[in-house]
Amino acid sequence: MGPAYPRDQREFDALVASEEACQRYLSQIRWPEGFACPACGHRRAWAVRSRWQECARCGRQTSLTAGTMFQDTRYPLRMWFQAIWYVTGQKQGASALGLQRVLGLGSYHTAWAWLHRLRRAMVRPGRERLTGTVQVDESYWGGERSGKRGRGAVGKSLILAAVEHTDRRLGRIRLVRIADTQAQTLADALATLVEPGSSIETDGLPSYRGLGAAGYHHQVIRADSRDDLLPQVHLVVSLLKRWLLGTHQGGVQASHLDYYLDEFTFRFNRRTSHSRGLLFRRVLEHAVQLAPVREADLHAPD
Ligand SMILES: [Zn+2]
Repeated sequence: MGPAYPRDQREFDALVASEEACQRYLSQIRWPEGFACPACGHRRAWAVRSRWQECARCGRQTSLTAGTMFQDTRYPLRMWFQAIWYVTGQKQGASALGLQRVLGLGSYHTAWAWLHRLRRAMVRPGRERLTGTVQVDESYWGGERSGKRGRGAVGKSLILAAVEHTDRRLGRIRLVRIADTQAQTLADALATLVEPGSSIETDGLPSYRGLGAAGYHHQVIRADSRDDLLPQVHLVVSLLKRWLLGTHQGGVQASHLDYYLDEFTFRFNRRTSHSRGLLFRRVLEHAVQLAPVREADLHAPD
């Protein structure tokens, strides 16, 4: 189950009032069943120094943050909690400048690196694949102009979008960057996004022909009218592009696009959740499962 999430600003302020409270909270997130010594399984431990506890039986010392996204941070957990709270409150997307201001960080670069770590934590590690009926299409982003596949793909990024839907209702989405529209590329990407046995709707692009053999019910939507053939996935793609343009002024480099796709996916899939506290706890849950990210592994800022 884990700890209760903060229901409003007041409860959040109370949580981050003390570093010890934040450590306790993170401990409950990391060990929802209670702490157990990784060496001997004993459940009682003493706090020995900040973020460390010592097993009451065998003396093994365990770090609260080792092996999580917070492993190497010099900053108090309190500040990370505030960063996550800020990010989950920004419906239109978070900016490094905004984060820098909220936390009073001295450097824009630090704020930028934090934000990119947090975007990673928006994706559930090993997240489940889409099921049911899934509409799929590819779209270009960036370069001279974005649009449907075709000529002049230089400098553009190709995004594969997958959207669950029942009748007219949209379900969850997945967005990934792909290298090209060859059959193998699409098949590999879809294998990570959509559960076999699901129905996949696409247009008539020949590269999708192998989906039946890959274990999907493949339905090609034919152009028999002037209507939009794939309205659900096209709606999601247009919302994504509007969000990229509006929030980030279109200034999204290809090398950073993955992070932005993750942030958009997180926000979209939780669009009906009105609880900021729930999102806050969700990001923390992901963060403790994420391997630490070294500075060098983040792409350089703009
Ligand atoms: Zn022990």
